[in-house]
Amino acid sequence: MRSHNSKPHPQIKGAQIIDGKVNFPISWLNQQGYCEYSLFLEYVQGVTTAVTPEMQKGQNIHQELEEKFKEEAVPTTFSDMMELSKKEEIMSRELWVLSPKYGIRGFIDEIWLTPSEFVIIDDKPGTTAYYSTINQVMGYCLAFKDTINDENRTIRAALRERGTDNIFWTSEFNEDAQNKIEMLISRMQDLFNGNKHFLPTKNPNKCAKCRFRNYCEFK
Ligand code: SF4
Repeated sequence: MRSHNSKPHPQIKGAQIIDGKVNFPISWLNQQGYCEYSLFLEYVQGVTTAVTPEMQKGQNIHQELEEKFKEEAVPTTFSDMMELSKKEEIMSRELWVLSPKYGIRGFIDEIWLTPSEFVIIDDKPGTTAYYSTINQVMGYCLAFKDTINDENRTIRAALRERGTDNIFWTSEFNEDAQNKIEMLISRMQDLFNGNKHFLPTKNPNKCAKCRFRNYCEFK
């Protein structure tokens, strides 16, 4: 895999500058859909909050799945995995994807690689396909597509109820989906480059549950 020139972003906590472009974790697309202003508070202002019970539960389930997978997993390289999957269905967890072109990076919870398609799965609490969680999984699809470059197998996005086999939402990562997520990522780049303002949500129910409400002037 090609090496990249990277350094921490001087003002945005958790962001990097990779090959001259702001590069942010794909999970921030989920947070953007909840409230853009919370990104500003957490990563630009540097506000920290305690881990909520829901976050802790998510981390625990994630860890359990990871350990279970490792018991049976066979280590392999990315290119070997791509090659093998042309003939048989395989699965991987915590697959790292990095796209300097779009300025995004992250770990895909689980991916099924089959001779006809790739299914990119993001585990979520509950069974509601929110706009924000769809954006996050579409972000992984985009970074994966950019990583594999010239592959023409179909890419499918899927959301699964955490800790279960219940895939409650799935959709093809087609041209329309790609255009939409590219537009959102371009907006994120504008926010981090100071060309646009981080907008607070107008939904008071979100503020009521927000872990930043004690620090936010818009609550
Ligand atoms: S309190 Fe409301 S406006 Fe402020 S960061 Fe949280 S969700 Fe956004």
